[in-house]
Amino acid sequence: MTISVRKVAALGLLGAVLVGCGGGADTASPVVDRTSAAATAEPTAAPGAKPAKPAPAAPPTMAAGPQGRTPVYERRTGRGTEKVVALTFDADMTADQGPRAARGERFDNPELIATLRRLKVDATIFMTGRWAEEYPDQVRSIGTDPRFEIANHSYSHYAFAEPCYGLPTVAKPDMAADVRRAFDSFRDAGAVNVVPYFRFPGGCHDDTALDALAPARVTAVQWDVVGGDAFAKDPDAVAEQVLSGVRPGSLVVLHCTRSAAPATERAIRRIVPELRARGYRFVKVSELMRAG
Ligand SMILES: [Zn+2]
Repeated sequence: MTISVRKVAALGLLGAVLVGCGGGADTASPVVDRTSAAATAEPTAAPGAKPAKPAPAAPPTMAAGPQGRTPVYERRTGRGTEKVVALTFDADMTADQGPRAARGERFDNPELIATLRRLKVDATIFMTGRWAEEYPDQVRSIGTDPRFEIANHSYSHYAFAEPCYGLPTVAKPDMAADVRRAFDSFRDAGAVNVVPYFRFPGGCHDDTALDALAPARVTAVQWDVVGGDAFAKDPDAVAEQVLSGVRPGSLVVLHCTRSAAPATERAIRRIVPELRARGYRFVKVSELMRAG
């Protein structure tokens, strides 16, 4: 099979974007602040009142760092022995990819979402605001399904620190607004299950970015297992990479972008039963964070 030069060039560009999602990770102490969950506890009901339905617990967040700096959650394997694993899927679309979507390129992956539902797998979708604008019906469907939670992967999928896989860079004064714009796009589409977690495009960040994002009041979320699904053609290779990397408490990064991660859905069909056979349970990031 031959691939045209033009197509290779296009894939290369998007490859920089997607491969950027599986980059290196930083470290920080995952000290979870549970006060936000406690603050939502129901008041004691008056005598004779109908028992109130307990309010859903607020998603846990980490305490801010010095000067309110954005905290970074990174699951470190080896802590704890509970066999839980969080599968996360980045819904990437850069701010300048609208013309490609208009020409028919699919940045979504409804088959993947359907498979997660069919297999009853809880998951966290780190969504870009630009993706949400392109696929509002899917955002509403995902964002009102208790099986999923939508987290923030920026509006633009531009870099928040340099270098970052060749991505264009968000200016520091625009960083918090970029993240807020993504949250706005989720809510405009009708999503409800939105959590205050943020994944840096490419995972690229520094203290400047963590300071700049403080007003957005998010917890940055990194990962310990790279699925390697960007441009992977062989679902077994993706499955084997995930299966060999997962430990109790792992946080796995994969993609929900069909054109650029075409093997992911088939890989999931193998990953899920094999991990369940090993005794693993699939949780959302909020549950993983709640576990400590
Ligand atoms: Zn990404």
